[in-house]
Amino acid sequence: MGESTVEPEYRFFEVVRGYVERAAGLIGLPDHVRDMLSEPKNELIVHFPVVMDDGKMRMFKGYRIQHNNILGPYKGGMRFHVSVSLDDLKALGAMMTWKCALMGIPFGGAKGGVKCDTRAISHDELRRITRRFTHALGSNIGPSYDIPAPDVGTNAQVMVWMMDTYMNSTGNVTKNAQRAVVTGKTVTCGGSLGREKATSQGVVHCITEWAKEHRFDLEGKTAIIQGFGNVGCNASLLLAKLGVSTIAIGDHSGYLRHDEGFNAHKVGDHVRTHGSIANYPHGSVISREDFFATPADIFIPAALENQVGEAEANALTVSLIAEGANGPLNPKGEEILAQRGIPVIPDILANSGGVTVSYYEWVQNLRSERWDLEEVDGRLEKAMTEAYQRVMYVARERKIDPRLAAYSIAMENLGTAYAERGIFP
Ligand code: GLU
Repeated sequence: MGESTVEPEYRFFEVVRGYVERAAGLIGLPDHVRDMLSEPKNELIVHFPVVMDDGKMRMFKGYRIQHNNILGPYKGGMRFHVSVSLDDLKALGAMMTWKCALMGIPFGGAKGGVKCDTRAISHDELRRITRRFTHALGSNIGPSYDIPAPDVGTNAQVMVWMMDTYMNSTGNVTKNAQRAVVTGKTVTCGGSLGREKATSQGVVHCITEWAKEHRFDLEGKTAIIQGFGNVGCNASLLLAKLGVSTIAIGDHSGYLRHDEGFNAHKVGDHVRTHGSIANYPHGSVISREDFFATPADIFIPAALENQVGEAEANALTVSLIAEGANGPLNPKGEEILAQRGIPVIPDILANSGGVTVSYYEWVQNLRSERWDLEEVDGRLEKAMTEAYQRVMYVARERKIDPRLAAYSIAMENLGTAYAERGIFP
């Protein structure tokens, strides 16, 4: 994100494993369960050819990490990005397991993707990469086995291509029952109303709950948002409805500040047309340092992992951080924010609205139902509010930070399932 990665030595999977170790110690998770959860069950790597627009063939590398499926089918996004690596996907796949276990959704955790520069490929190339990748995955995904969804660099269109490719590789008779192989599809092709904004909606529900708890009036407040893709843009839109204006934004191309507040609809349109916030006609260009030092009430990291290290954590002048992205704080950044008393609503809680509505989509597909937006939004609000209360209750009771509380709840669920089921044979 922007020009620098905070710590070149940063190993995301080790960071997540560190949280697991701490939570496991805290709840007294049996060693064998901790060991089972500390590595993914399956790590799949595929290499596949794609004919590019210039007629030349190029090889691509795709991954699917299936971390755990004790609570239900593997579930998680597909990331298309230049930085995609086995280690990061292992971390992200594990986080999906904790997220679903925390939310009480009957899914396990997975993550996958293709290492590619989505900004340097055409729409047609993206389609061919997606279809060939899905073909290469073959029966390693499936509606009751492993269910992909959008993530960084993918969207509803990519999910529809995955669905169509998968459906066409099964027999005619069962074809339509395969629709639930992916979630986050377009509404016409079996997606759920409310899925597009679901991750941001969940983030905003958490912010609203935090504000209620702290008697913090959101009206007239300000936010800074890093990343202006699906999560960042929708969060800005939803916050605007609550009277919170977004005064600084950033993405891979740079950072902008606009004290009157950005119009998220317009920035979103600009990003969809031009691929980034670069040359957006309002606001002034600021440095990455100035972005993090912009005084505001709320900071939403909604880009990639490892964005907030020591310098950023010292610079941030906000009252609350809600993690729209997965793993945006590195351990040093987290430590400093804790010392400075800046509260953080952790990723596996804050951004779990996405997979929650993915679950609703999956249920609708399996039952051939179509829920209206009110139904989806109502269920999501209840799920997010309850999860938020649960996490904060455990944090208070055990005198631990909300991240550790969220991990503890998730791991207690998983531990109970293992205790009840035992180890086969
Ligand atoms: N990629 C999203 C996440 O990190 C959504 C996953 C899903 O809906 O399965 O939570």
